[in-house]
Parts: sequence; C-alpha cells; structure tokens
Amino acid sequence: MTPSQYIELHAKDLLGNLQQLVGMPTVNPPGEHYDAITSCLTSELSAAGLVAKRLAIPQALLRRTLPPEQHAFPRFNVLGKLAVSPASKTIHFNAHYDVVPVSGKWRHGSPFSGAVERGWIFGRGTADMKGSIASLLLALRSLKETGVRPMMNVEVSFTADEETDSILGTGWLVQNAPINPDYAVVMEGGEGGRVCCGHNGVVWMEVQVHGRAAHGSQPQNGVNALEKMSALVVALEGYKRQLSRTKFVTPEGRTMRPTINVGGIFSSGPGGKINTVPNEARFSIDRRVLAVEDHVVAERELRAFLTKAARAIPDCRITISKISENFSCFLPPKHPFFAAMAASVSRVRRAKTAFSVSTGFNDMHFFAHHRKIPTIGYGPGGEDFHAVDERASVRALVNTAKIYADLLTSFEG
Ligand SMILES: [Zn+2]
Repeated sequence: MTPSQYIELHAKDLLGNLQQLVGMPTVNPPGEHYDAITSCLTSELSAAGLVAKRLAIPQALLRRTLPPEQHAFPRFNVLGKLAVSPASKTIHFNAHYDVVPVSGKWRHGSPFSGAVERGWIFGRGTADMKGSIASLLLALRSLKETGVRPMMNVEVSFTADEETDSILGTGWLVQNAPINPDYAVVMEGGEGGRVCCGHNGVVWMEVQVHGRAAHGSQPQNGVNALEKMSALVVALEGYKRQLSRTKFVTPEGRTMRPTINVGGIFSSGPGGKINTVPNEARFSIDRRVLAVEDHVVAERELRAFLTKAARAIPDCRITISKISENFSCFLPPKHPFFAAMAASVSRVRRAKTAFSVSTGFNDMHFFAHHRKIPTIGYGPGGEDFHAVDERASVRALVNTAKIYADLLTSFEG
C-alpha cells in the first residue's frame, strides 16, 4: 500500500482525531486546556514514530511575559523529531494549537463538537489550525504504517499563543528549543492551489497631541488639542499618497500596496468637557507593512513624517508611541524547496499551483526571518476563520495529508 492509499483509507481517523482536538477548547486568551492538548499531541507524535517531548515555559518567564490574569495558565510547546539516516537535511513542520474565543450562534453543532456535514467539519480551530495538525499526523502515520521512509529528517512543533503574539510559542521555540531545520512548513497561510511564500507585517502606533486647557469662553487662552490633531490627520493624507506610490507584485501577479488606517481609536484625555478647551487628543495608526518591507523602517519613516508634520503646525506638540508590531516576510520562490512543494500540491490536487503572499500574518516569519531558512505556508485552511461556523473541507484535509506525505517522500533537500 502507498502512503496516499493509506491516507485515503483512513480519512475517518483524521476526522476523529480532529474532533478530539477541537473538543479541547484551547481558547486564547487566556490559554485554556494547553496542558491537556499538549499531552495528547505528544503521545500522537510518539505513536507516529517520532521522539516527542513537551517543553514547558518556565514560570518566571511566563510571569514576566503574560498579564497577571493569565499567570495561572501554563504554556507548553511540543517538539517531535524523526531522524532518518542517511538524510542530511531537516524539514520542520509547525502549527499552533491555540484558538480564538467563540461568540455568536453556531448553526452546525456547537463550537467544540466537530460536527461533520456535507463534506465539511465544523468547529473552532478546524480551519485555524487544528485541521493542519490532524493532516500532518495522518501523513506521518501513513509513512510509518506503509514502511516508506521520509527523505529528510523531520521535526514537528505544535506551539502556543499564535493568536496573541507567539512570544512564548513559536517565538520562544525558534530561539530556545533544540531544533536545526533547513526548511520549514508553517501549516497555514496557503491552501488549495496556492502555496504561500510570505506575509504582510504591521505596526500599530498611538499619537498623543498635547494642548493647553482653558475656559470655553476664552479659547484664545488655550491650545486646542483637537484642532491640532485634526490638522495632523489632514497632513497624513500626504503620507497616504506617498505610500500609494509603493507597490509589490506577488509571484502570482497580484499588486499589493502598503496602507495606513488613521484613528481606529481616538479620544480626548481626562477632563474633556463641552466648556473646556481640550488639553489632550489621541488617535491610533494601523500601518500595514508589505511582505517585502521592513516594519522597523516603516515605523521610523512614519515617526519622521509625523514629527515633521507636527512641527509645521503652530503649537502642535505630540508624543508617538508604539502599541504593537509584527514582522513581515517574503522569500522569492526560487529555491528548489518551493518547486518541490508546488509539485506535490499539483500532483495530489491534479491542478495548477501558484505562489501567493498572505495579507494576514502568521508564524512563518520566525523561520523565514529569524532562522533565515526557506519557509512555506501551506495547510488545509477552510472558511470563516475566527468567526461563527468555522470549518474545514474534508477533501482538503485528506489532500493536505497526501501533500505532506508526498513532499516528505519526493524532496531530499
Ligand atoms: Zn492560525
């Protein structure tokens, strides 16, 4: 029997496995049921023939990193390894096991039931991204059961906290765990006929405008922070024009441009009253960073623009602070690893494959950027990520298991 035939025959096991994973509500924040799911995933990897262990995040680091209300929720990452002699290269598969909270009314089962209907499996995490975990586990079992050896050493990590910031998940793993990958597949970002080779990044900033309060009957005695802020927001139109001249054409021919969204959050400071000249005003800026841009450079340019624009407005004093950031990444799909993955996807799906770049971000950049290795985003994906009736296609789950098995048995690095 071939691995592919084994996978087709055991599609039910994949769904049963996925239902079991979905049934452990690893909701983050705060990070529930991590202990249970990582024990389960460690034994699943062992059963698939890997040497697997659970890496616990030290309490002291957890307390330094997470907000107090999450200190009672331990963090773990799972690492499995399969040494294949005489292979010289190592491929690393990564997925996060945490899921976003649920809300709204589900029409297909409950969010944690894993109901299967008409070719779809429903539940929180089916698409993002426990489905990927189930596909990979079946791919690994298919190789073990049919006695077909991978052509590379295999590493697998199942990590925490991607839905918050990945600091104690993949971020911790790439710096602290005993891994040595030459290639990585982060099992989301690309799906169907699209293999992901990069994703956008982001910088979130807040601008605080300082005025001087005065009585509303004598506005000439104060500095109106709202008026200064308005002038600054108008000046940002110039920055938008500047950004619109930058573009990036993805390998599949899609044109992407950097963007800013101004004032998703805006407020006056304390003491705002109708008869007072506002002393303070603040607004946010959401700067989306292209896959080929550097978010550090983007932040520096934005700060410089704001500082200069504020200087041109009389009495406009500002403080700029960063709220959050996330790396972008992009590797031109020239390395043979990309061609091998595209070939596996095309063989299994019997359709053409394109290279894509994802607008959202995921954990790919930890491998592409920090470890500087060729990194691909590909998994079964699904519909309604983070929403009501999140679901994955049964066909895509089975196909993805075949694709992972095909890649492992066709590419030696
Ligand atoms: Zn995800």
